Amino acid sequence: MQNIPALWRDPETYLSRSAPDHPVLFFAPSVLHATAQRFLDGFSGLVTYAVKANAHPAVLSNLVAAGVNAFDVASPAEMAAVRGVSDTAVMHYNNPVRSAKEIAAGIDYGAASWSVDCASELDKLAAVPRSCEIAVRFALPVSGAAYDFGSKFGASPDDAVNLLRRVAVEGWTPSLCFHPGTQCEDADAWVEYIHAAKEIVDRAGAHIARMNVGGGFPAHRCGTAPDLEAQFAAIDAAVTHAFGATPPAILCEPGRAMVAESFTLAARIKGIRGAGETVFLNDGIYGGLVDIRDMGLPERVHVVAADGAWRKGRTVPRVVFGPTCDSLDRLPDGLPLAGDAEVGDFVLFPGLGAYSLAMTTAFNGYGVSEVVTVLDLLRDKTSNA
Ligand SMILES: *Cc1c(COP(=O)(O)O)cnc(C)c1O
Repeated sequence: MQNIPALWRDPETYLSRSAPDHPVLFFAPSVLHATAQRFLDGFSGLVTYAVKANAHPAVLSNLVAAGVNAFDVASPAEMAAVRGVSDTAVMHYNNPVRSAKEIAAGIDYGAASWSVDCASELDKLAAVPRSCEIAVRFALPVSGAAYDFGSKFGASPDDAVNLLRRVAVEGWTPSLCFHPGTQCEDADAWVEYIHAAKEIVDRAGAHIARMNVGGGFPAHRCGTAPDLEAQFAAIDAAVTHAFGATPPAILCEPGRAMVAESFTLAARIKGIRGAGETVFLNDGIYGGLVDIRDMGLPERVHVVAADGAWRKGRTVPRVVFGPTCDSLDRLPDGLPLAGDAEVGDFVLFPGLGAYSLAMTTAFNGYGVSEVVTVLDLLRDKTSNA
């Protein structure tokens, strides 16, 4: 008999029935489908998914089911994860530094597109079939993102000109790619990159059929939800403005913005000290909350009592420690939590689907160990009196 996992109504129902003593990530496929549809409808090019943000098989298979059929992969293990859910999904191998064995694996998996940002790395790709696209990744010193991706990867515009010429001369399909940095709330970053791409194309005297505008689309962390459609429109306008009547096709590779909102993390309160100013959770920066260390505090956090009801007390600032014996295991900015929170309650962090499960460690025997599928992530508040 096939064992199909239960679909729980919402996180609160599961928490009140199961009282899990480990952190749980709640996954709502409905939310992932809606986000995928938003990208597919709103972005005027190919939508691919950056597997590193969350490689859970349920994420990958639901994206395929939603109509996403191309994936940005960085390692043979990510290629295997994609093949595990689809025989036909297209793979773009966009880690620009590769070992000989990894290149062989990419060829075996049939990676259709490869990015490169340096001549010595292009030298290594001699065996890659000439039917493939090679996208030259370039970087600019632009701001707008939570942190800069250009400090590790990406050729200078001058080097990109030379690489693009070489890709064309050696017989691959030349293309350009960039990544404006993760959680990029300022569409001007894309605009700058797109205009720089046009200059590189002109200086190289090459024709590119396609341009990869990267990931970096923001998730809902603070304030109102980001206006992705406005960013798509800014990208379209910049492509038209820069390239005129013969623009390259574009593709994007969102990770964070695609998957963040479809997961809510629940961590349990293990201990409260002093007059309540210090709280110990069963998850922290070595587990599912690692992204908070780098990205800062998200809003929308709430406390759920053991019976599933939301705590309604006025929030008070807390110092929040994770479960390990490492004193660095602390949320850097603390966290405001309901004043009536008690030991045994759960703290729910919405929007934590990206860089949570993917980066959780088992340090000290802790970390996210369960993904529970739910119909909906937000309980109807009227049933929560
Ligand atoms: C990480 C990464 C992405 C996804 O970035 P997000 O900020 O999560 O959207 C896309 N492309 C490449 C090449 C990456 O390394």
